[in-house]
Formats: sequence, C-alpha cells, structure tokens
Amino acid sequence: MKISCEQAAEICNKSQYREASLMEIIKLKYHIFICKTCKLFTTKNTKLTKLCNESKLQILSEEEKAKMKAELEKSNN
Ligand SMILES: [Zn+2]
Repeated sequence: MKISCEQAAEICNKSQYREASLMEIIKLKYHIFICKTCKLFTTKNTKLTKLCNESKLQILSEEEKAKMKAELEKSNN
C-alpha cells in the first residue's frame, strides 16, 4: 500500500492522462494522507489534488456523480 513520493507524482501524472487505475488513485490518496511533504505540497499547490479529484470523478458512475453533486449543494446551503 505504501508508495514513495516519486510514485505518487507518477500516478498523478498518469491520472492526468486517465491511465491511472482505481487502485493507484487509492494508493495516491493514502500517500497524500500519510506523507507530510506531499500533503504540504497539495495544500500549497491544489493542482495535484484537483487532478486526482478529477480522475476519481471519471471513475464514478453518473448516478454517483449526481449523488455527490447533491451532497455538495446540501453542504453549501
Ligand atoms: Zn510524499
């Protein structure tokens, strides 16, 4: 489950081209969760997080996306 910072960056690059698998995205998310360096980097540079979120959204079904959108709208009110 543990990956290096280099691997995390690599998966993120792959996700940009929609080549990253769901397992890789999970590993990446886990890495960002446990790695202070990458966490700091993603906080400073939201591009990485944005990319990963976008690639995750592509994996979700239309129904799941709609559900997520509804949840977001609910939290905004
Ligand atoms: Zn890292």
